[in-house]
Amino acid sequence: MAIERTFSIIKPDAVAKNHIGAIYSRFESAGLKIIASKMVHLTKEQAEGFYAEHSERPFFGALVSFMTSGPIMVQVLEGENAVLANREIMGATNPAEAARGTLRADYAVSIDENAVHGSDALASAEREIAYFFAADEICPRTR
Ligand code: GDP
Ligand code: MG
Repeated sequence: MAIERTFSIIKPDAVAKNHIGAIYSRFESAGLKIIASKMVHLTKEQAEGFYAEHSERPFFGALVSFMTSGPIMVQVLEGENAVLANREIMGATNPAEAARGTLRADYAVSIDENAVHGSDALASAEREIAYFFAADEICPRTR
């Protein structure tokens, strides 16, 4: 098993509903360690840059507007197969299709306000971590 790092966001809807602690508890119960964390309120430019891969999609404007609507929590999770493990904890993008017991089944209301983000691959995890965190803001506990 490989120890990986992945990038996670608790989106504005879940922060507004006071679900930060419940969601952190899910990560920790699954064996993922939070090795960096902060609250930020994205500017339009930051949200557009983060989601640049979706810039041609019809929902891009709605996505940027939602992601800038309130503060978010951003965190780096570390653990065995962290990228896939976090995607499993999150559940499907559309909460209507998310498996029981996943974060999106329990905390998301719609495909556009779906509680959490998680990197979809190791390469995107590296890029997304670097988008939000300087090296000295990350505190690995697996040394
Ligand atoms: P994820 O990796 O599971 O978050 O899904 P994607 O990378 O495909 O999409 C990024 C984000 O864009 C999703 O988490 C949703 O917030 C939003 N999104 C994706 N598809 C749709 C859609 O069809 N409509 C709307 N309104 N938002 C969407
Ligand atoms: Mg994605």
